[in-house]
Amino acid sequence: MSRRTQIYEGKAKILYEGPEPGTLVQYFKDDATAFNAQKKATLDGKGVLNNRISEFVMMRLEEIGIPTHFIKRLNMREQLIKKVEIIPLEVICRNVAAGTMSKRLGIEEGEKLPRSIVEFCLKRDDLGDPLIAEEHIYAFGWATESELDEIIAMTLRINDYLMGMFGGVGINLIDFKIEFGRLQTEDGHKVILADEISPDSCRLWDRETNKKLDKDRFRRDLGDVTEAYTEVATRLGILKESQNSSAPNLSVVSNDE
Ligand code: 5GP
Repeated sequence: MSRRTQIYEGKAKILYEGPEPGTLVQYFKDDATAFNAQKKATLDGKGVLNNRISEFVMMRLEEIGIPTHFIKRLNMREQLIKKVEIIPLEVICRNVAAGTMSKRLGIEEGEKLPRSIVEFCLKRDDLGDPLIAEEHIYAFGWATESELDEIIAMTLRINDYLMGMFGGVGINLIDFKIEFGRLQTEDGHKVILADEISPDSCRLWDRETNKKLDKDRFRRDLGDVTEAYTEVATRLGILKESQNSSAPNLSVVSNDE
């Protein structure tokens, strides 16, 4: 890795220059942070699991026509992605009240929302990613109206698909956060899905028990964080059943570098 140029380090991932122009390598760390990085830990194996889960989800989404930055997985912790200009928005889609929506609006966690709701936060760690309105996005030029139309349409399509995908393995998709980027094309640019989709960025509850299978296990000190992520990967068929015993066996990939 030392021979590569690091271009960005985030809380859970590092981006390196890729082997070809227009590509990057996205490295998944084991680091976990919450509450604007006031809470920090290293969770052995989290990066490996998120790399696999995000690969799986991005590939499924490509299959249904959602353009994504994902090109291919390189090894246990890295994937090759398309270089994009990140749109500085965290796009959140909610099906069931939880987290900040419950706090903000006084709706009990677990209450089904009357319809899926898309929210926008400004991607600004120093401000704690504040909730913003569409008007802010246009006024400050963070995205154009046509870009936002595409973002909302893609988000709702992704939500429909992921609700079905997780529902098929007994998991309720409560909410999730996604990010989009601008990919340069010959005649301008197009908006594509970027970043990751993993239990770090989704709320996933077991359908029968409502057990949390996501980053809230870390945020709320519920324990067994990587075990929960392993459970998600196993149910999706990414890990073999036998590898989901107690401690996750993360040597899951035979063709890794
Ligand atoms: P909330 O606004 O309730 O904290 O989060 C809503 C959803 O978006 C949750 O699934 C949460 O995991 C995700 N989310 C919100 N902000 C972030 C963030 O900064 N990083 C990540 N990984 N996920 C986020």
